[in-house]
Amino acid sequence: MKNNHRNDEVQIRPFVEDLVINWHLIEACNYSCKYCYAAWNKPDSSKELHRDQDGTARLLNSLYDFFRPSNSANPLAHIMDWKNVRLSIAGGEPTLLKERLDFVISKAKQLGFKVSLITNGSLLDAQRITAIAPHLSCLGVSLDSSNITTNSLIGRVSQKGNVKPVRDVVETIRLARKANPAISIKINTVVNAINMHEDVSVLISLINPDRWKVMRVLPVISDALSITAENYREFVTRHAALSSVMSVEDNQDMVDSYIMIDPLGRFFQNSLGGSAYLYSSPIQEVGIAAAFAQTGFSPQKFAKRYQNGLRGEFLP
Ligand code: SF4
Repeated sequence: MKNNHRNDEVQIRPFVEDLVINWHLIEACNYSCKYCYAAWNKPDSSKELHRDQDGTARLLNSLYDFFRPSNSANPLAHIMDWKNVRLSIAGGEPTLLKERLDFVISKAKQLGFKVSLITNGSLLDAQRITAIAPHLSCLGVSLDSSNITTNSLIGRVSQKGNVKPVRDVVETIRLARKANPAISIKINTVVNAINMHEDVSVLISLINPDRWKVMRVLPVISDALSITAENYREFVTRHAALSSVMSVEDNQDMVDSYIMIDPLGRFFQNSLGGSAYLYSSPIQEVGIAAAFAQTGFSPQKFAKRYQNGLRGEFLP
């Protein structure tokens, strides 16, 4: 039988379990990291969408409808496949919100999203993490150092000057696993001018995360704590023993390749070399397809991110 197929011409479409939509629900944070990216054109926080339950529900509806698998009106559907849509709730610090965070989680799950939470972990006491964890498929916790002085210098400290001991964050993660044995744990570390010489292998090994995302500080909002590519490489090399869980993202990997929504309900993208983000119009005003088309988002780069083993949650 004649074989008309030529293997070298076969294009394999990327397939991922979860397409990740990052919703930065709130700008405020109880920490003040000097490299913090969470400054969205100084929006009026009174207009943040979480304050409007109906608006929040409408946005989540639009997102699920647009990004659900096999919606052919979505430009991504032409180049890749995915099984689930995961809403990654980030901030600022989303756990500053209580009932509103609970509403977003439950509404998202009701619509069909998987849900993950990205947090600095400092506000999750035993009761709160035990209540939230069963609803999450993934808990992402930002940890830059086990050293109190380092964390304090970075700005990972409350307004009263309190630094949460890392052992408390480790305990929070233990409780999350206890409440939900299936939960995936991700640690985010931003390599910056203050922690770049450290070795955090013991801490990461102790936590034993499913994934450890190591990012080079992104000079989007300011150059505070920025480092060279060489500094970053040295940090990664120092932790080579953890390469089986480590996911490395240099600055270029972080541009035009995340699906991100700001607290006002606009898509936005990082812009390297610029001092600001690129924003769409509010999704609720122009419709989701038009807003998504405005951001300069690159479906090809996004698909490549997954092909390269990276994932879609933005930091920390
Ligand atoms: S914990 Fe995250 S959101 Fe809060 S200040 Fe630091 S980088 Fe920004």
